Amino acid sequence: MYNEHSVPRIRGDQTWQERAACATAVDVARDPDLFFPATATLADEKRVALAERICSSCDVRKTCLEAAFECGDADGIRGGMTESERKAVRHRFELRCDPARVAVALSGRDVYLSGAERQELIRRAAMSGAPVDRMARVLKVSEAHVQKLFRRERRKSVGTHLGTPGAPQAALEAISA
Ligand code: SF4
Repeated sequence: MYNEHSVPRIRGDQTWQERAACATAVDVARDPDLFFPATATLADEKRVALAERICSSCDVRKTCLEAAFECGDADGIRGGMTESERKAVRHRFELRCDPARVAVALSGRDVYLSGAERQELIRRAAMSGAPVDRMARVLKVSEAHVQKLFRRERRKSVGTHLGTPGAPQAALEAISA
């Protein structure tokens, strides 16, 4: 069974929805639009409060919120947040750099990566000599493009190391690898 606290969700895995509290909540059966309040009326304020209460007890709240950000799902309440609340913090999600997610992607699993995580993955893959074909699959680009990204990362690394006394030899080895 899906556990949002074990490993990051593989892209496209929807099994977490089997544990969604909103899928079985009686209040949703009574009001199918509960998670999609459309106006700022008092009735909708009550809807938001009730939906957020359901989310607060949901086992897959974190995954639900991440999935909404990953898919750019702007509609309705997701992971306990309204559309406008998600819009306000979306940029923070894209700045996330979770080492655990990067490590999972480095091993070849297809997980969603923020821009910052993608950049960190390229850096770590280039420095560790990760297989180009694997990284092409994970990054969804051609192998030639991965090689270009790796060369750029190694050049950057050399630039950094050249500023460190005693490091030029290691830097030269890195760029010629
Ligand atoms: S967090 Fe809320 S919207 Fe998401 S699955 Fe759970 S109950 Fe449904």
